[in-house]
Amino acid sequence: MEPRDIDGDLTEILISEEQIRARLAEMSRQIEVDYAGTDLLLVGVLKGAVMVMADLARELHHPVTMDWMAVSSYGSGTQSSGVVRILKDLDTDLSGRNVLIVEDIIDSGLTLSWLLANLKTRGPASIEICALLRKPDAARVDIDVKYIGFNIPNKFVVGYGLDYDEKYRNLRSVGILAPHVYSTVAAPAL
Ligand code: 5GP
Ligand code: MG
Ligand code: MG
Repeated sequence: MEPRDIDGDLTEILISEEQIRARLAEMSRQIEVDYAGTDLLLVGVLKGAVMVMADLARELHHPVTMDWMAVSSYGSGTQSSGVVRILKDLDTDLSGRNVLIVEDIIDSGLTLSWLLANLKTRGPASIEICALLRKPDAARVDIDVKYIGFNIPNKFVVGYGLDYDEKYRNLRSVGILAPHVYSTVAAPAL
């Protein structure tokens, strides 16, 4: 059940709460097999990955540690440029660790490919990516993503951690934002 006041802001629910839950369970079974008997450090990318991190970590029947990074991607408007700045770095030393980056969405892939290159220089034993969503039609770089929840169309989505103007992160499902929400024209001054 979503808050009533956002009903008109979405054109459609793309992925329901139940679909997300079921897919994260499938992905978790795969991760448990792949990391059986090894240590696993989940690295969440703030803020969008908060929900997927929380649900994935609790679904995993595997001991994990969690750490967080915040990055900002310079670019014009909504376009990512691939020039990334670290706003909050990890507290954890990655040397010898098995790292799984947990992301909300891969759009152009520029931010994540920068992050991957950066973390690789820190000497992890292994490093892989888990993303809930990916837009294949928006890809500008090829990234090897080991665990993908859903491939989605090249539309702007919100919910389940994903925001527009910091709003909608707490929706339980992923929906397509209605154009009227972001194309409002400022009222003329009287
Ligand atoms: P990329 O560098 O892959 O183009 O950008 C990735 C970041 O842009 C994501 O982590 C997310 O913060 C933001 N982003 C990309 N597509 C969407 C979208 O459809 N909705 C929202 N809310 N954010 C998006
Ligand atoms: Mg993200
Ligand atoms: Mg955002």
